[in-house]
Amino acid sequence: MSGRVIVVGSVNIDLVARVPHLPHPGETVTGGSYDRHHGGKGGNQAVAAARLRRPTLFIGALGDDTFEVEARRALLAERVDVSMVASLPGQPTGVALILVDAAGENQIAVIPGANGAIDAGYVSERLGRLGPLTGDVVLVCNEVPLHVVREALVCAHAAGATTVLNPAPATGIGSSIFALADIITPNRSELSMLLDTEARQTGRHTDVSQEIPVRARQLIEPGPDGPRVRKAVIVTLGASGVVVLERIGSGLEGAAAKNETGDEADGLRIWEVPAERVATIDSTGAGDAFNGALAAAIAEGRSLAEAVQRAVAAGALATTHVGAREGMPTATELEEFLATR
Ligand code: ADP
Repeated sequence: MSGRVIVVGSVNIDLVARVPHLPHPGETVTGGSYDRHHGGKGGNQAVAAARLRRPTLFIGALGDDTFEVEARRALLAERVDVSMVASLPGQPTGVALILVDAAGENQIAVIPGANGAIDAGYVSERLGRLGPLTGDVVLVCNEVPLHVVREALVCAHAAGATTVLNPAPATGIGSSIFALADIITPNRSELSMLLDTEARQTGRHTDVSQEIPVRARQLIEPGPDGPRVRKAVIVTLGASGVVVLERIGSGLEGAAAKNETGDEADGLRIWEVPAERVATIDSTGAGDAFNGALAAAIAEGRSLAEAVQRAVAAGALATTHVGAREGMPTATELEEFLATR
């Protein structure tokens, strides 16, 4: 089996100003420097998968401004298929306005623009055009409206794809959404937010003092109101690596990864993978590298254990570069790094 990665998500242009200090309300700060970067979780994740030489297609929306051309060209330059990226009349392309002071403290305003205006019908129609998606992986982030996330997960599953939900940001995602995913990949704070939403909606609380594997079970064990994530929960913990809860019989099993320490309980296989030790400079984009590499490896037909191992390596490599999208490792970088392990 060897398939494509199809990313449904957001694209932003990041406008980054480095200023002497962050302005107070009403204050103008003069001086400093300014840079423009290509961003948005969806765009970054698509680039992460494409740099690993997986055929990658992006479904999302841009505005009808000059940033549209730039954003489209940047994805194309990375060999991401942008034929299903809409240009929405009257909408601006998504923009993140980022101020960073001399101490590295920041203020960020995100204007979703076209990312917030994309239509669920557009996504389902485009996914439908791709025909059967058996062997493909559809990766969805939450920087597009929730009804679009839901539609993408439903249509992709119905067409036979493996679905990965990166619940970033985790706002508004309850079990009625995440139960539609095969795999969910929250980071530590997103896991807490998902469990808070779950507690509000079902009255099912977890003790916050419990270890991550205990808390994360709520996302995969059936609840009072029905099923949860179908195959696996992968919690990313920055420099502490990841915790994986995989349903036995998920169809994603394979040979154990070399540093896997397994534990089986109640139909789940639970294991941790430590982070790779690298010279970290900037950890922005680690999660996007992780998700893109995970999707690419599953689309290559690798087992979940192998895919996680590769994603952990890609996440670490991304932290050795400044910037998010710029730091996504290439296939050669990833293979060379893995060969040294
Ligand atoms: P996010 O960027 O979404 O918050 P994380 O910070 O958890 O996601 O990073 C995703 C993965 O990238 C981690 O699980 C880990 O494997 C890898 N990673 C992140 N930060 C580091 C780091 N400082 N050193 C090594 N690996 C890292």
